[in-house]
Amino acid sequence: MKKSFAFALTPVIILLLGSFVWGFYGHQKINRLAVYTLPDELLGFYKQNIVYITENAVNPDRRRYAVEGEAPRHYIDLDVYPLDVQEDLKTLSWSQAVEKYTEDTLMAYGIVPWQVVRMKYQLTEAFAKKDIRNILRLSADAGHYIADAHVPLHTTENYNGQMTDQYGIHGFWESRLPELFSDEYSFWLGRADYIENIHSSIWKAVGESHAALDSVLYFEKELTQKLPQDKKFTITERNGQTIRNYSKEFSEKYHRMLNDQVERRMRGSVKMVGDFWFTCWVDAGQPDLLNTSPYQSTEEDKNEEAELRKAWLQRILNVRREADD
Ligand SMILES: [Zn+2]
Repeated sequence: MKKSFAFALTPVIILLLGSFVWGFYGHQKINRLAVYTLPDELLGFYKQNIVYITENAVNPDRRRYAVEGEAPRHYIDLDVYPLDVQEDLKTLSWSQAVEKYTEDTLMAYGIVPWQVVRMKYQLTEAFAKKDIRNILRLSADAGHYIADAHVPLHTTENYNGQMTDQYGIHGFWESRLPELFSDEYSFWLGRADYIENIHSSIWKAVGESHAALDSVLYFEKELTQKLPQDKKFTITERNGQTIRNYSKEFSEKYHRMLNDQVERRMRGSVKMVGDFWFTCWVDAGQPDLLNTSPYQSTEEDKNEEAELRKAWLQRILNVRREADD
């Protein structure tokens, strides 16, 4: 009896753990590929720090459980707002939005577009000061938030299909699909372009993500109705854990129905991350970074990273405990 109970709960745990953002794999890939869109004056600098930029692409997710106010920076639940308010929000700066709709409301439903705008100023300043540590930290972080804004399920209250009986779809779309198929995607994106207006560019990206949401949910539903349940998931045992995952067959069919949607959102992420870094550098007066040496992590970096890892692992243990209770 106990065993079957545990069996019923374990899949939930696994799906829950895998249910945040592009997944480690996607975020790292997006930041790494963005480096190669940069012009020569920047390419060398980012290339010699590419390990840092890649590995730290997931820091904002690790911070979600350690830093208060971090979580809302990753999404915006557009659909909780009436259409006219959605339109209005797009036009407002952070302080205007706070004044009109209150900070509590905005924080409750997510602030990703304003977070990206804020980071534009921060990264530009770091470039202007030639502050290598902050250039790299902020570049890695900004890459993360920009990529999150490109994920359709980061623009809805129904972010993990929990309101439509599609629980687990978040990790499926943004982790499982890219892990299975992104090697086949084309990431030929040309050179980074200057972003004239960061506010409208990030809102455009969020709008496109939101417009893609219908198909994300609809096709999963449709395919679930067509395929028997035992074909939808595979159950495997690993280290005594039962892991339920979307089957290869289900993943392939769904991916095909989405008609390159994941590839388009991922390409859009890479392009905008490169554009963003380039724009901040230009606005800072194009500082010369050609003769800097690769950044070495400081003790402070290492301690901070250890803290984040600890908080993140603690969170996983708590989730398991909650599920076991
Ligand atoms: Zn995130």
